[in-house]
Amino acid sequence: MKLDSKIPEGPLAEKWTNYKSHQDLVNPANKRKIDIIVVGTGLAGASAAASLGELGFNVKIFCIQDSPRRAHSIAAQGGINATKNYPNDGDSTYRLFYDTVKGGDYRAREANVCRLAEVSSNIIDQCVAQGVPFARDYGGLLDNRSFGGSLVSRTFYARGQTGQQLLLGAYGALSKEIHKGSVELFTRREMMDLVVIDGKARGIITRNLINGELERYFGHAVVIATGGYGNVFFLSTMAMTSNGSAAWQVYKKGAFFGNPNFTQIHPTCIPVHGDYQSKLTLMSESLRNDGRIWVPKNKEDAQKIQKGELRPTEIKEEDRDYYLERRYPAFGNLVPRDVASRAAKERCDAGFGVGSTGLAVYLDCADAIERLGKNVIEARYGNLFQMYEKIVDEVPYDTPMMIYPAIHYTMGGIWV
Ligand SMILES: Cc1cc2nc3c(=O)[nH]c(=O)nc-3n(C[C@H](O)[C@H](O)[C@H](O)COP(=O)(O)OP(=O)(O)OC[C@H]3O[C@@H](n4cnc5c(N)ncnc54)[C@H](O)[C@@H]3O)c2cc1C
Repeated sequence: MKLDSKIPEGPLAEKWTNYKSHQDLVNPANKRKIDIIVVGTGLAGASAAASLGELGFNVKIFCIQDSPRRAHSIAAQGGINATKNYPNDGDSTYRLFYDTVKGGDYRAREANVCRLAEVSSNIIDQCVAQGVPFARDYGGLLDNRSFGGSLVSRTFYARGQTGQQLLLGAYGALSKEIHKGSVELFTRREMMDLVVIDGKARGIITRNLINGELERYFGHAVVIATGGYGNVFFLSTMAMTSNGSAAWQVYKKGAFFGNPNFTQIHPTCIPVHGDYQSKLTLMSESLRNDGRIWVPKNKEDAQKIQKGELRPTEIKEEDRDYYLERRYPAFGNLVPRDVASRAAKERCDAGFGVGSTGLAVYLDCADAIERLGKNVIEARYGNLFQMYEKIVDEVPYDTPMMIYPAIHYTMGGIWV
């Protein structure tokens, strides 16, 4: 067995630029003779299909849902990182590269991370051109906020619904190609198997979810863009269709499946609240910009809160333990996600957790509301606060949110 990740030769910073300059090209007349299947209409699949269609290939794109716009990318909340350095706070391509490699526990493929950092600004430009309404500052420039694990503000966002807006942009580009005839869209189709001819992926078998029939489609190449596999866990922040079925089919046909254990535990999810829920809900990472995370300093207070005898707003400032700010003064509440998750679990396991189960910590925006005003916080996170209120039946403008780590993001998958 030979593992070949096909990372281009040369110095790290030039690998992909060199590759792009020397890769084989296909002449326009030949492109029209090449069929490409794309499975998945999320940000990955929709943008790949739109780009391939625009390049002149014949594309067929498939999704389980009744519309490409329902891919789970729609759930992404906090934002997308790019190194434009608009806030002039010292960001650079190198820093995004470094933060990403470090955030990936030094296990990411460095050449690919380097490429991601290089093209990050172009991606923002492309999204803006597609009409994505990123937040803007008072002067009209694109605004930035911070994500965990970095000391700069490089996250471009559209309130707490960045994924939805990005997906609408990608869907717009895809629709243009569908209208042109270069892309054919197949909704309500679930991929059931991969067709392999002479060791190459040449097609797929799908089930038509409307009439139950099996269908087959040919392609000279098959792109699998079927998203994460969070639903192999009982509860996660992912949709029920993020089940890894396509990756499993491809694996059975000889592809490798890599690093399934690389699963991110997100620190700010709404805690489990019953036996019958099918998924968990994320409270965006971005809330850690303005929210402070704490638990009671005294175990007795935590126990009273668990029994419903004490409210968080009744706990005095000096009796609160802002444990991330205490332990990690440089990053504070913006430590990387794994660090914040471990710290929350440690506090709860030690008996300082809140909520009726004791498996929750507070995310408190009271300081920010006082400093900036409720209207500013509402403009930044209004939809998240509303979602929290609907699920927990508490108003986070008046009382701190309860959060707890949950399975969120899967980084393993089909080995490429
Ligand atoms: C709650 C939440 C919040 C997030 N917030 C952020 C954020 O703020 N910033 C950030 O950078 N990332 C965020 N992420 C991660 C990011 O959203 C995902 O990594 C990304 O959207 C995945 O895109 P995708 O196109 O690969 O997959 P998806 O959007 O999941 O699309 C998968 C597609 O594949 C199709 N499909 C799956 N299986 C089959 C099958 N067997 N047959 C046919 N079709 C199939 C589906 O129908 C769908 O169209 C978040 C993720 C979640 C869950």
